[in-house]
Amino acid sequence: MAFTLPQLPYSYDALEPHFDARTMEIHHSKHHAGYTAKFNAALESASLDSSDLTGLMTLMDMNNAALRNNGGGYYNHCLFWENLSPQATEMSADLASCIERCFGSVDNMKEAFSKAAATRFGSGWAWLCRKDDGSLEVCSTANQDNPLMPGIGCGGRPILALDVWEHAYYLHYQNRRPDYINAFWSIVNWDVVSKRWAG
Ligand code: MN
Repeated sequence: MAFTLPQLPYSYDALEPHFDARTMEIHHSKHHAGYTAKFNAALESASLDSSDLTGLMTLMDMNNAALRNNGGGYYNHCLFWENLSPQATEMSADLASCIERCFGSVDNMKEAFSKAAATRFGSGWAWLCRKDDGSLEVCSTANQDNPLMPGIGCGGRPILALDVWEHAYYLHYQNRRPDYINAFWSIVNWDVVSKRWAG
């Protein structure tokens, strides 16, 4: 059994004008497809099976570059597509009060997340994670690493992901990463984020 490229839960042009169709198509059908194929090849080389994606992340051999980069690339993009939506959504009351407890307000959380995304040097990701003690924390990670991997970022369980690789925004936003981050807040799927937080 191998991992497969998940279908997007919306069409490539559904997130316009925030995320453009051409970027979405290349990002999904080329970049994510590439990570998927190379992750499967790395799993085969390491004689690992693909029954537990989360377990593969938490037990990641950080010295296995092919597995780390492509496994992270596979997992991170799966999370990312799911936490976007063309429809307006609302976060659950429980998640909202948890965010308010940890950050003071939802706006403060968005500001901290946006800052983590904007200041990540080079390629990487921004995350909102639920820690084991139930609290929330924002961090960013380099390349295709994620906070499930040993010793990476703030730890905890990622509930919101943002890709800040140039391939995620350059066609439409060029060097204006802050504009891309701003646009992201218009298309976050808070239903999915709320379910991840509760789950
Ligand atoms: Mn990407």
